[in-house]
Amino acid sequence: MHEESARSVAVTRHAVVIAGGGPTGLMLAAELALARVDVAIVERRESQDVAGSRAGGLHSRTIEVLDQRGIADRFLSQGKVMQVAGFAMIPLDISDFPTRHNYGLALSQERIERVLAAWVDELAVPIYRGREVMGFAQDDTSVDVELSDGRSLRAKYLVGCDGGRSLIRKRAGIDFPGWDPSTSYLIAEVQMTGEPEWGIRRDDKGIHGLGRLEDGTRVRVVSSERHVRQGDEPTVGDLREALIAVYGTDYGVHNVTFLSRFTDTTRQAASYRERRVLLAGDAAHVHSPSGGQGLNIGVQDAVNLGWKLAQVVNGTSPQSLLDTYQAERHPIGARVLKNSMAATALNRGDERTKALRETMSELLKMDEPRKRYAAMMSGLDIRYDLGTGHPLLGRRMPDLDLGTANGSRRVFTLLRDARPVLLDLGEPGALDIAPWADRVQRVDARYVGVWELPVLGAVSAPTAVLIRPDGHVAWVGDGTDHGLRDALTSWFGPPTAP
Ligand SMILES: Cc1cc2nc3c(=O)[nH]c(=O)nc-3n(C[C@H](O)[C@H](O)[C@H](O)COP(=O)(O)OP(=O)(O)OC[C@H]3O[C@@H](n4cnc5c(N)ncnc54)[C@H](O)[C@@H]3O)c2cc1C
Repeated sequence: MHEESARSVAVTRHAVVIAGGGPTGLMLAAELALARVDVAIVERRESQDVAGSRAGGLHSRTIEVLDQRGIADRFLSQGKVMQVAGFAMIPLDISDFPTRHNYGLALSQERIERVLAAWVDELAVPIYRGREVMGFAQDDTSVDVELSDGRSLRAKYLVGCDGGRSLIRKRAGIDFPGWDPSTSYLIAEVQMTGEPEWGIRRDDKGIHGLGRLEDGTRVRVVSSERHVRQGDEPTVGDLREALIAVYGTDYGVHNVTFLSRFTDTTRQAASYRERRVLLAGDAAHVHSPSGGQGLNIGVQDAVNLGWKLAQVVNGTSPQSLLDTYQAERHPIGARVLKNSMAATALNRGDERTKALRETMSELLKMDEPRKRYAAMMSGLDIRYDLGTGHPLLGRRMPDLDLGTANGSRRVFTLLRDARPVLLDLGEPGALDIAPWADRVQRVDARYVGVWELPVLGAVSAPTAVLIRPDGHVAWVGDGTDHGLRDALTSWFGPPTAP
């Protein structure tokens, strides 16, 4: 009896436990907290420090989703706005794209994580820091999560946002098919005695780069290795050897504060869900950093999953809503795997590949290919398959300037609380959503401008749109309410009885 009660004290309950407080886990926690779900993060690191260099910025669509939650300015104020989209290092300008954020943002992963962590803190999400998830057991109603400090957490759902080597994915028995690395790189933060050759150099083994770090005195080194290596920790000797092989000198490299290796290993989880266990971010997909997409699609996975999981946990929607997470995000991950493999191949240094890259570069200067590739790399062209119909269906809702009874409002400001919106642009009150009024905000508004989408250009003006919390359009009105009840039911649960 005594032992029984001692055991129950050691189990802490949350509705959702997230393993991993990197960018994906932090974003997901915030999305769930906005939907008033009791969520907690378990994070191995003691603090939000990120060892060395990882992601260097945000793409346009990620800035948009942060803008939808009212926090884009926190990132924009710390980073440098610039054209960051590119394919195989061929720059792609998006300054003529129809978005308020027609650019990317240069900002280190550490700073991105710190801003996200501060937001998660404001939303009062508990983080169990300095502890690891060691294992879990799930049954029909809950998941028991075992922590390295001996504590147990019990949750309705566990989400593995625990990175590429995800323990959650492995313990859930989810396959991770894909391709072994074709190349490996050393990445380091160092000081050099001599003035190095700044910028990018290509040779028959690939691509190498020396750049100044933010403090102006230190150097970031990224260098393809002669032979593919993985797993073992690189040494300063390996770094010197690599520099000499490429530049003929190691530039008196010293004070090496960060040294690591990354590869173009390319793999994707066969399934993003195993009953009560889900995967997001690097736990679900790994690929070469080419194109700077990993952090970005992890954050976007979280924004797709958050509101759906919240509705299932809150009992608003059936578990089957979670199937749409896999249906929508797996193809996006697969596309990133494909484009990053193509970009890595194009970055090989031999003469034939160089000719191919130059050909591709010419093609991407043409307007139509530039727009298509730039929209893909910046995440602005994503269309979830919600059936046929108006081009807006399944695509991101543009951030229009609306006239409302309360003055002018941007569409994105309506999504701050991560709640769905029925935007009625026709006769006020013509659409009846009373049975969903507890879940769906209704906004009567006017809009007089053009409806313009990235790549597609101008599309016909709808009379109403149903916008999901992730900013994607779930239903488009054509002057009638045809299909509205079905869309409301399938996305936001059955109607409430009057
Ligand atoms: C050199 C390099 C450059 C890159 N450049 C870019 C770029 O420019 N743009 C871009 O978008 N992406 C880039 N990426 C990829 C980006 O860093 C990742 O995609 C991103 O960090 C994924 O975020 P995540 O939260 O899914 O996983 P992670 O950032 O890996 O976070 C996982 C978290 O889980 C924790 N954890 C792991 N196991 C456990 C456990 N058992 N229990 C508790 N906690 C656990 C870890 O401590 C970590 O905090 C780059 C990567 C590299 C290596």
